[in-house]
Amino acid sequence: MKIECIKTHHLRCHLEKPFGFSQWSYDQRNVLVIEVISDTGVSGWGECYGPADVTQSAVSNFYAPRIIGLDALATDYVWHHMWRSSLDFARGGIMMGAMSGIDMALWDLKGKALGQSVSELMGGRHRDVVPCYATGMYFQDLPEHELLPSLIEEAKGYAAEGFQAMKIKVGKNPDFDEKLIKAMREALPTTQLMADSNHGYDLPEAIKIGRLLDKYDYAFYEEPLSPEHGNLYKKLNDKLDISIATGECEQTRFGFMKLIESGGVDLLQPDLAYCGGPSEALKIRTLASANGINCIPHVWGTMLNFAAATHFLASAYHEPGRAEPKQLFLEYDRTENPLRDDIYKVAVQIKDTGAIVPTTPGLGVEINTSAMNDFDINNTETS
Ligand code: MG
Repeated sequence: MKIECIKTHHLRCHLEKPFGFSQWSYDQRNVLVIEVISDTGVSGWGECYGPADVTQSAVSNFYAPRIIGLDALATDYVWHHMWRSSLDFARGGIMMGAMSGIDMALWDLKGKALGQSVSELMGGRHRDVVPCYATGMYFQDLPEHELLPSLIEEAKGYAAEGFQAMKIKVGKNPDFDEKLIKAMREALPTTQLMADSNHGYDLPEAIKIGRLLDKYDYAFYEEPLSPEHGNLYKKLNDKLDISIATGECEQTRFGFMKLIESGGVDLLQPDLAYCGGPSEALKIRTLASANGINCIPHVWGTMLNFAAATHFLASAYHEPGRAEPKQLFLEYDRTENPLRDDIYKVAVQIKDTGAIVPTTPGLGVEINTSAMNDFDINNTETS
């Protein structure tokens, strides 16, 4: 079975309500979706995290012509062929985002061709439902005295839906963040809370906020510092009890090995649409296991990446093993996203805030191509 054709779709939607975090605010979402089609007609879908218009060129102009004709089921071989073909000038960044989406599509294709779900291909399904945590509480363009109660109300809404865990945004400014961390804990005394600064702090700020998160019993502290500063992560981790989580900006086993070796990280968050795809995420998980830490994917984008992460966690074994392990919660972004919610004939089903692991072949989700076309602003086909 050979790779015969690769199609790409740059999808864009405008949001009714812009959302912000420590760096900026978004009023639209963009994603690059990829379909890899084999010479037998079996096809698979994947998506890339990153700037869709630039990534589209990397897929259609660079990688696609180099992998047409290769064995469509040889995921590891195709990955290494792409890696070697761009190693001299692209060991990461947008090119790796492009490779990630192609790799995800090949896993979907392989599952469909072999009649197995992606979690079965990843080593077997350990659980039928993966518990989710709600990601939300993004900043809005409101005065702070209105923003804070609005974020608390949003979080209470997720608690009312049954979410036992949720992640808030911090990094607006340290004064506001301190008030928010405290108020959120007082409003939700029994919820597992996490906080994400999207690398918004310097080391003294990160220490101060981290101590507050320790005091209010938050479960993990995500991207407190810039991803470039492994040494600062180590200094921060030495001063805090809370787990430090990061990795959504990191890629490949090589990048994650350096991150682990920095000694400042307790929880790895590779994004399957960016880190190198499912193939590379499994290698990163092995590295994490060899170092006694866990891997919980960063999840953004559409239902393809959500499905890939669902399969990844369905096949995950908690480190360390024990009879009553901690739960590995799947990130479930609750912000407005028509590209996740409105373009699928078959989506991952959510029941009682858990993602039901698809058992059908491949990723187990199906795009409604006519609904997708409403958001398609540029597409390519390479054969
Ligand atoms: Mg994050």
